[in-house]
Amino acid sequence: PFDVLVVGGGPAGSSAAIYAARKGIRVGIVAERFGGQVMDTVGIENFISVKHTEGAKLAASLEEHVKEYNVDVMKLQRAKRLEKKDLVEVELENGAVLKSKTVILSTGARWRNVGVPGEAEFKNKGVAYCPHCDGPLFIGKDVAVIGGGNSGIEAAIDLAGIVKHVTVLEFNPELKADAVLQDRLYSLPNVTVLKNVQTKEITGTDKVNGITYIERDTGAEKHVELQGVFVQIGLVPNTDWLGDTVERNRMGEIVVNSHGATNLPGVFAAGDCTNSPYKQIIISMGSGATAALGAFDYLIRN
Ligand code: FAD
Repeated sequence: PFDVLVVGGGPAGSSAAIYAARKGIRVGIVAERFGGQVMDTVGIENFISVKHTEGAKLAASLEEHVKEYNVDVMKLQRAKRLEKKDLVEVELENGAVLKSKTVILSTGARWRNVGVPGEAEFKNKGVAYCPHCDGPLFIGKDVAVIGGGNSGIEAAIDLAGIVKHVTVLEFNPELKADAVLQDRLYSLPNVTVLKNVQTKEITGTDKVNGITYIERDTGAEKHVELQGVFVQIGLVPNTDWLGDTVERNRMGEIVVNSHGATNLPGVFAAGDCTNSPYKQIIISMGSGATAALGAFDYLIRN
């Protein structure tokens, strides 16, 4: 059996595998797609100490760094079941069952898409999902935020301080965000809030040049010219396969303590699949290190 089995090969899982392997113990890592969300990213400018890099390049470096160590790397494998017996068992979709004394879950998350024409086409060409990452690309420009929940309104407030103008589009007749966020939003001079509207299309040529929406009460179709669209309708953790084996919150995020431990002894978690409040590369890597050290601590005590 492994001492530490990492499930997920993004920044969190890579960091966990390296930290664990440096303890001289048996480490394995299973990843459906090595690199994770980083593979979908173009420019990265907030990975501290690296002024600018690109997703594919960072993903390749993650894998290269993991392979410097004696880590059993199992790529293109998807975990489908976890069970705690004497050891922790992880069953893969190909039927193999991996056994380990400890497991670190780092299966990440995915942004929910609006699914309108133009969204996929203009991804990274004006369509963005992370205001912390891509906000500064739109300095002095006009942008839209799709989604009036807490994350949408937080994004709109954040972006209003950077860009020229923000248009918020909410499908429902009312914003769902907390009142304090709404008050703050409505106090800003460069924000327009459109409620009860359905996004129809993100338009553009080589990059985004506007958004078309339908007023749901009148049926009227409107178009706004702008250069960026932030989709903020939810980040979904890749944790469904865990069922009730570990505690998850109502968003489906794995609940961890300050040592990265879940409620199931020997099972740890890190990165975007957990209840960590902010989802970023550098934060995922930090939590991967924490989970690995937490797992090592557990191993020397049990
Ligand atoms: P992920 O990167 O999501 O990795 C999850 C891993 O788990 C993958 O290897 C996946 O294949 C694997 N996996 C999932 N389910 C299973 C399963 N059942 N079995 C086996 N493997 C599984 N952050 C920044 O800091 N700066 C940026 O500029 C930035 N830009 C971004 C741009 C985009 C378009 C996106 C989508 C995200 C961006 N982020 C950025 C966020 C950042 O990418 C994430 O916070 C980070 O990748 C999370 O790392 P993670 O390891 O927790 O999860």
